[in-house]
Amino acid sequence: MQRDALSVLQHVFGYHDFRGEQRAIIDNLIDGDDALVLMPTGGGKSLCYQIPSLVRDGVGVVVSPLIALMQDQVSALNALGVRAAFLNSTLSAEQSQSLQQQVRNGELDLLYVAPERLIQPRTLELLHQSPLALFAIDEAHCVSQWGHDFRSDYLQLSLLHREFPKVPRIALTATADPRTRTEIAERLDLTGARHYVSSFDRPNIQYRIERKDGARKQLLRLLRAEHAGEAGIVYCLSRNKVDQTAQWLTDQGIPALPYHAGLSGAMRADHQQRFLREDGLVMVATVAFGMGIDKPDVRFVAHLDLPKSIEAYYQETGRAGRDGEPATAWMAYGLEDAIRHKQMLAQSEGNEQFKRHEHQRLEAMLGLCEVTHCRRQALLHYFGENLEQPCGNCDTCLNPPQTFDATEASQKALSCVFRTGQRFGVNHLVDVLTGNRSDKVAAAGHDHVSTWNIGGEFSASQWRAIYRQLVARGLLAVDADGYGALKLTETCRPYLRGEVPLHLRKDAAKSAERTRRSKP
Ligand code: ADP
Ligand code: ZN
Repeated sequence: MQRDALSVLQHVFGYHDFRGEQRAIIDNLIDGDDALVLMPTGGGKSLCYQIPSLVRDGVGVVVSPLIALMQDQVSALNALGVRAAFLNSTLSAEQSQSLQQQVRNGELDLLYVAPERLIQPRTLELLHQSPLALFAIDEAHCVSQWGHDFRSDYLQLSLLHREFPKVPRIALTATADPRTRTEIAERLDLTGARHYVSSFDRPNIQYRIERKDGARKQLLRLLRAEHAGEAGIVYCLSRNKVDQTAQWLTDQGIPALPYHAGLSGAMRADHQQRFLREDGLVMVATVAFGMGIDKPDVRFVAHLDLPKSIEAYYQETGRAGRDGEPATAWMAYGLEDAIRHKQMLAQSEGNEQFKRHEHQRLEAMLGLCEVTHCRRQALLHYFGENLEQPCGNCDTCLNPPQTFDATEASQKALSCVFRTGQRFGVNHLVDVLTGNRSDKVAAAGHDHVSTWNIGGEFSASQWRAIYRQLVARGLLAVDADGYGALKLTETCRPYLRGEVPLHLRKDAAKSAERTRRSKP
C-alpha cells in the first residue's frame, strides 16, 4: 500500500495539517536525505521522524536518552495502531527474540532504543540484517560537551553514518545556540545535512517577571484574578517549598498537588496522571516535573524561584499554552535567588570550566529579569533569533518600566563595594551607604570609609534594588563562598569611574523592602 505523508498525518495521527516546517523536514527524509532539526519543545519534532518511518520501507530506528519518554511514545503509537516497540533490557529473552525477528522481517515501523544499546555489536548486527527506513537521533545536543546533558554514548553515534551510509539520518534538538548546533553537525557526521531551524517564539505565551514581594500572595492574586479553575504548573527550587506551597494553595481553595523526586514513584505517577486527566489542577513541582509532559491546556507556568538559566526558563515556561491559546509565564524573583543559585553551584561537583559556564548562564537569566525593553526580544535574542518589533505581549511591552539615570548612584554603590574590601553582602553595603551604624559596620570600622553615609537620596530598599540590578547587569558578582559578598567585575570599571551613563529600572525600587533581612 502506497502511503503519503499527508494521509499518514490525517489517518494515523488524526491531525489536519502539518505545523511549521514539519512537511519540508518529512519530505527531505522521505527523499533519503539527512536533516538537522532545531525546534522548540512542543514544536512537534516526533512526527518529523515518525511519519517518514511509516512512509518509507523498513523500520525507523529512534535513539533517545530519555527512557521514560520512549516508553510513553511507544504506548502512544501502539494506541494509534502503529507498529512500534522499545528494545531494552527489561524484555525477556523470548520477547527480545521475537522483537528482533519482527525487525528483520520489516514488520515494525518504529524501533526505539537507548544509545548505549544501539552501539552494541549485537544491535548493529541486527540492524545490518534488517530493512531500515531511517535513524532518528533525538535530544541530539547530548553530543555536545558544551551543554550539561553530555552523554559519551552519543559521541559514538557517528558510527551510524559509517556503518549505514545509505540510511538517512535526522538529528533533533530543542537546544538552540549556534555553537551546539555546529557541534552536533560535526560530531554526528551530519555535515551534509540540511538544517531546519524553527523560530523559538511562542507568541501566545505572555512573559511576566516581577520582583518578589510576598511571592505566595503575588501568586495567589495571579491565580485568582486571571487563572481561576485553570491548570498550571508552579515551579519551586526545593522539595520543602514544593510541599509547603502545594499545601498552602490547597488551604486557599486552589486544588494543588506536589511533585518532586523525594516522593515515592507511585505518588509521583499518581499526581502526574491526575494533572493530565483532571481539570484545573495546579501542579507544584521542582524541575523534576515536566520532561515529556504533553498537556495542551496548561494555562500558566509560575516560577516562585529563579530558574538556573534561560534555557531552563524557556523549557519550563514552554509547557504553557501548547494548544496555542493564550497562556501566562509568570515569575517572581529576588536577589536572594541569585545568591542561592551561586551557593548551590559552588557546592556542586563539576570542574571550573563547568562552573564558569553555569555562572554565565545564570547571569544571562538575571539579565533577562532586569531588561527594560521587550522581554520576548531579549529571550529570542539569547537563542540567536531576531524579533524585529517589540512583541506587545510581555510585561515590559504592556507596562514599560520607568527608568532613571543611575550613573551617580551606581558609582556610589560600586565604590562602596570597593572601599569595604569586596567582602560584604548587600545589607552591609546598604548600611554603610545609608549611614546605619550596625554592630557589623562598627566592628569593621566602616563608619570611617569614604562611602559612609553618602547615599541619603535613596531608601535602603531602593539601594537594594540598585544592587540587584548591578548584579543582574554583570557589574557586580556575587561571591559563591556562601555569604553572598559582592565583588567588582571587569565590566564595572567604566561605571565605577562614572564614564558610562547607566539607566536602571525605577519600579524595581519599591519592592525590596520585604525581602530585607531574608538570609542570603
Ligand atoms: P517536541 O518533541 O518537539 O517537544 P512533540 O513531538 O511531542 O514535540 O509534539 C508536541 C505536541 O504537538 C504533541 O501533542 C503533538 O501531538 C502535537 N503536534 C505535533 N504536530 C502536530 C500537527 N501537525 N498538528 C497538530 N498537533 C501536532
Ligand atoms: Zn514584549
